[in-house]
Amino acid sequence: MNLILMGLPGAGKGTQAERIVDQFGFPHISTGDMFRQAIKDGTELGKKAKSFMDRGGLVPDEVTIGIVRERLGKDDCKEGFLLDGFPRTVLQAEALDAILAENNGEIDAVLYIDVNPENLLNRLTGRRVCANCGATYHLVYNPPKKEGVCDKCGGPLIQRADDRKETVHERLQVNIKQQQPLVSFYEKKHVLKKINGEQPIDEVFQDISSILGAMAK
Ligand code: AMP
Repeated sequence: MNLILMGLPGAGKGTQAERIVDQFGFPHISTGDMFRQAIKDGTELGKKAKSFMDRGGLVPDEVTIGIVRERLGKDDCKEGFLLDGFPRTVLQAEALDAILAENNGEIDAVLYIDVNPENLLNRLTGRRVCANCGATYHLVYNPPKKEGVCDKCGGPLIQRADDRKETVHERLQVNIKQQQPLVSFYEKKHVLKKINGEQPIDEVFQDISSILGAMAK
């Protein structure tokens, strides 16, 4: 299955992506994670992406489409994938369709985790991620067993630069504006599946599992 996970920053995409990957085994392709890794590795791509990310803006389409094209060409994507954080613009969505069409593929479903933007500011500033494995936590809604330490790998939990109060507001505004045309794009294709993201984490995942289970039949 070729899937896209959508929702505003803080809607729970990272958390649900981990569960979907655990249960269904799709490769998880997060452009945000790819950029953060490139920054960590000090590559040219990382240098390009960093200036945009630190300001809470989007990395240019041609850069982003290039890394996704390369990643989708890898063998582990042949049976399907879960895209997270991509596409963010209609141009990216059209490029994605073109990339998939080269192998007679298409997007099967867009899982849209719906949360009221007013609730997201608080979710984002409370978010912590593992500096080592990237697992996500929340100080209030999804705390680690031991403060500041990742349950999965024991790595240190940090706050992402773009989750700080100063950048979160800008990041939300950019995303709200960018998301609407994409929602319409996938609604027209009849692949958009809205999921109530205000529910507890387990219930959001149950809804996603039911959708994917029904599609597999
Ligand atoms: P995320 O982890 O998905 O919230 O992404 C973090 C940051 O990476 C975003 O705020 C953007 O600066 C950049 N980024 C990730 N995905 C994309 C994309 N599809 N297009 C442009 N920029 C992106």
